[in-house]
Amino acid sequence: MKRTLTTCPYCGTGCQFYLLADDNGRLVGVEPSSTHVVAKGQLCVKGWNAFNFPNHPDRLTVPQIRKDGKLVEASWDEALDLIASKLKETQEKHGTDSIAFFSSAKTTNEENYALMKLARAVFKTNNVDHCARLCHSSTVVGLAGTFGSGAMTNSISCVEETDCILVTGSNTTEQHPLIGTRVINAVKGGTKLIVADNRKIRLADIADMHIRWENGTDVAFLNGLMHVIIKEGLADDEFVRTRTENYDELKTVVAEFTPERAAAICKITPEEVVNAARMYATAERAMIIYSMGITQHSHGVDNVKSCANLAMLTGNVGKTGTGVNPLRGQNNVQGACDLGALPNVYTGYQKVVDEASRAKFEKAWGVENLPGNVGLTVTTAINAAFDGELKALYVLGENPMMSDPDQHHVKAGLDKLDFLVVQDIFPTPTTALADVVLPAACYAEKDGTFTSTERRCQRVRKACDPPGKARQDWDIVGDLARRMGYDGLTYNSPKEIMDEITEVTPIYGGMHYDRIDQVGLQWPCPDREHPGTPFLHKGTFKRGLGLFSPAPYKPSMELPDDEYPFVLSTGRCYFHFHTGTMTRRSRLLDREERFPYIEIHPDDAKRLGIYDRFPVMVSTRRGEVKALARVSDIVIPGHLFMTFHFEEGAANVLTNNALDPVAKIPEFKVCAAQIKGAS
Ligand code: SF4
Repeated sequence: MKRTLTTCPYCGTGCQFYLLADDNGRLVGVEPSSTHVVAKGQLCVKGWNAFNFPNHPDRLTVPQIRKDGKLVEASWDEALDLIASKLKETQEKHGTDSIAFFSSAKTTNEENYALMKLARAVFKTNNVDHCARLCHSSTVVGLAGTFGSGAMTNSISCVEETDCILVTGSNTTEQHPLIGTRVINAVKGGTKLIVADNRKIRLADIADMHIRWENGTDVAFLNGLMHVIIKEGLADDEFVRTRTENYDELKTVVAEFTPERAAAICKITPEEVVNAARMYATAERAMIIYSMGITQHSHGVDNVKSCANLAMLTGNVGKTGTGVNPLRGQNNVQGACDLGALPNVYTGYQKVVDEASRAKFEKAWGVENLPGNVGLTVTTAINAAFDGELKALYVLGENPMMSDPDQHHVKAGLDKLDFLVVQDIFPTPTTALADVVLPAACYAEKDGTFTSTERRCQRVRKACDPPGKARQDWDIVGDLARRMGYDGLTYNSPKEIMDEITEVTPIYGGMHYDRIDQVGLQWPCPDREHPGTPFLHKGTFKRGLGLFSPAPYKPSMELPDDEYPFVLSTGRCYFHFHTGTMTRRSRLLDREERFPYIEIHPDDAKRLGIYDRFPVMVSTRRGEVKALARVSDIVIPGHLFMTFHFEEGAANVLTNNALDPVAKIPEFKVCAAQIKGAS
């Protein structure tokens, strides 16, 4: 049995394991790494089954081109020549920004770098983004604004070194199971736990306080906590005085959020606000863990900034066991951001509007006239396609038909494109609309790196060959670049790409493959000797002083009314991942959770004559889908919860594409819905 040490392709926890391949090179199992800093010999159910989907017969194995309305097999030369000529023609006719590129949080750092370099150096557009837009763009913007760096401040190990954890908007045991285990261990060791989440997630069972606020009222709750902390003299005055600015404005804004007012908005009790404030602020070290329950709102940036305000007010930044810790959803969503698959920055968050940064990359890439305008996001690109302004789209390893809000709108946008290329490992609802489909290698068939939620850059290694004619993403991108007359994307290996990354990216300056062979390093890691950085903002914030950025409460964009009386929220479940492309092709995972379902409170179910596991029709202003009812007090009355993994009951038919004005993240967590029994 061949054993290959690699990194899990699912959540951002970043567990490492050995892929086991038999004598025929076929993957047959997984063995956890007992020495890995996070996995420590354990994996969750998705990790244990990560050997399964690469063997699935649905894998894309040959390029396909649409002819007479049908996708038919083609050679690589035919497919890539067609892409090169179509993209060139589109830009000549409609301008450089008439095309866009979606990169992927599932592919490696090296491949994200290659795609964003292709977009910028070859096609001269900053229209490049990826699905961080849909999960943590609020984090990137919010924490960069307050602290100067938009990433998890601390390490996963800090969970077991803290005295109090506030978990909000994160179903940690299901979405980041090995971090969830750490939280459970910490609580067993005496750490206080506050769960602020309106679903009765598993951590609620062991929490000291479970606060079930109304979805979308996060800012009011957090401002309420800060009101109490200031009023009761629980703030860390020394930290506030020496490490922060704009405190007076914070005081003014939170002064209005008395426990009574905050509680009224959140539909909780004033005592809950007061007690949570005291528990968090009196702990010697306290940390905030959050995820998409905080970020996926039309005021997601305000939510993130409010978490940062709370941490700064109590001096809980810049030391172990503290911090503001967004848990990134996908295996390499952190890395895709770090490597510049974003419309406003190159690698390491070097801004495209900054002339010096442009000059630096022009020199490094041997090109001229890199664009200085901020490009389209995933969400605004779909809107631009819908409006007829975007003409061509190149999607690498993403499935916007399933992952983006308001599916009918997405389809209408993609249908209006003149040309759509999708590069992926499986057929998806997005490949079904493509003009060209390119078969790609999956994580088990390639070398490279992923960067986990704790900023740890780790090796991914090839354990088996890709099926058929599938190729590695970086290799496909390099081939396309050559057809466009550019040789600067021709590499012999991902290692060569990483060597280039270390030269142009200060925070990755020391991430050479020989240094991360067994144990990954956490950025910033500026040079070969640097040991990596377990926690950020020690002594000083990246931006100098931490900036208090208080926000008033803003209601969600679409609230329940007589016609749509429920609040619908969406998310994930334990057994599946993202749009289900991989987990639904893993036998055990698919067996455990086979059908789309929607959670409804028993009181609501009884009133509407809805029975557990019977079909229901859920509708919003954007469409309707059928699912099985799951009658459970995991949700509060008046609320519904649905996952977005199932194509046959796609939750994103229903969701609202209202966007945060700055981060452009959609409001996946709140929209108004109606539910009734179905046959
Ligand atoms: Fe993979 Fe995340 Fe599970 Fe670890 S916790 S095995 S990284 S899915």
